[in-house]
Amino acid sequence: MSAQIIDGKQVSTEVRERVADEVAEFIAGGGHQPVLATVLVGDDPASHVYVANKLKACKAAGIGSVHHELPAETNQRDLITLVRALGDDDGIDGILVQLPPPDHIDADAVIAAINPAKDVDGLTATNAGLLAGGRPGLVPCTPAGVIELLDHAGTELEGAEAVIVGRSNLVGRPLISLLLGRNATVTAAHSRTRDLPAVCQRADVLVAAVGVPGLLGAEHVKPGATVIDVGINRTDDGLKGDVDFDQVVEVAGAITPVPGGVGPMTIAMLMANTLEAARARSLAKVWG
Ligand code: NAD
Repeated sequence: MSAQIIDGKQVSTEVRERVADEVAEFIAGGGHQPVLATVLVGDDPASHVYVANKLKACKAAGIGSVHHELPAETNQRDLITLVRALGDDDGIDGILVQLPPPDHIDADAVIAAINPAKDVDGLTATNAGLLAGGRPGLVPCTPAGVIELLDHAGTELEGAEAVIVGRSNLVGRPLISLLLGRNATVTAAHSRTRDLPAVCQRADVLVAAVGVPGLLGAEHVKPGATVIDVGINRTDDGLKGDVDFDQVVEVAGAITPVPGGVGPMTIAMLMANTLEAARARSLAKVWG
């Protein structure tokens, strides 16, 4: 029997509508309009499309935006000066530096310059540490979107065996903490894992965040498991996930497609994080 398809487009629309309602409520209750600052360095066409989509989503959610576009030859010091200035600017709630920057810029140094209270990508050491410690903070958007999809699909996480394939700072590692926080039994698999099919076969919830098209096939999936495919791989046959969808859809209980699964969730969660940052900053002003 074919798996239930988890529709990321639909869930992301619901999240964005919910955020728009909450932004309106926040403002009606005396709050300020949340504002996201985006910073884009260079001419990478894909990055331009991503940022344009983020700015469009802000508008639809009633979130203000300020966009900074810098030439490819911008030096690291000037970029960091801008990011620090945005961190000090009381009119800005969220800072998003579109990654990756050009090769001559060290992304880690730029991330370290982001004010953690405005770190809506959840990438600073402060927010990563809070998440690892199970404390509240700003959570990276893609892993937060994965949890939203699992909740939407009604997947039981408490006590479930969850296997995450991939351990990047952007996706795999934050997911370990998020799933632990939901009382799943979490296994992190990666490029040195000895018997990947056997490890994955244990999973009630299997998340692929690798970057290798079609890596996980039917032999990796326990019948009835929920499979979340974070992979976005450009191939000659178009966009492909890390999961061989045609095989796995016949084994899994529920599965996200690529495109139209995790992808649309990232922007939706960015909107949610920007509102959360605005709320937290507004409370901090009241309570000091
Ligand atoms: P990454 O390259 O930083 O990390 C890949 C991870 O996969 C590593 O931890 C590595 O150990 C593991 N890995 C590599 N080969 C493996 C193998 N053969 N077997 C098991 N593990 C292996 O990647 P990332 O930034 O986490 O991105 C992963 C995928 O998710 C990419 O396709 C990326 O495009 C996609 N992605 C999508 C979104 C989104 O939907 N918005 C966001 C971020 C990343």
